[in-house]
Amino acid sequence: MTAKGHILLAITPLIAINPDLYNNPYLIGASALGAVLPDIDEPHSYIGKRLYLISDLLHYIGIKHRTITHSLYFPAIFFILGILFNNIYLLAIGYGALLHLIGDSLTITGVPLFYPNKTYFNLLPEPLRFKTNGSVEYLIILILIVIDFYILRDHLHIPDDLFYKIFYLINSFFEFLKTPLSM
Ligand SMILES: [Zn+2]
Repeated sequence: MTAKGHILLAITPLIAINPDLYNNPYLIGASALGAVLPDIDEPHSYIGKRLYLISDLLHYIGIKHRTITHSLYFPAIFFILGILFNNIYLLAIGYGALLHLIGDSLTITGVPLFYPNKTYFNLLPEPLRFKTNGSVEYLIILILIVIDFYILRDHLHIPDDLFYKIFYLINSFFEFLKTPLSM
């Protein structure tokens, strides 16, 4: 799944549970960070390009894409630290990372939840699994954006005009796709 898909997949359940979280940029930001963080194991990913010192180091010591950072141990570390330090932002990073694993488990490759055990887990039956950065993923992204607009309809101050709303939605979808996020 791409960074865009991961971020939307992590944020949507949060604001569905409590739309007011939309006004908490730190919590949303920490969840979004967690949602892209497992791909630090891939130097060409969105997060890998930004935290390239860490990403290059992981690559250098031989950590491959979709291995340890795509196991359940990765979000568990943040959950444990969050509980130990009573820190909601560490918990939010753990939550985002867990949703990342769920997102990648919808794709063809799947995720090695119990790495170094090399069994890759998939949440979907084989015919429904999709390719990262493929058209099915973009359909999912569009659906998530529609859901987010619906949840945030009172927060976004969009004029009460159906055609304007549709225009706004389509425009936002393409603006979102243009943002330089990959993997
Ligand atoms: Zn991933």
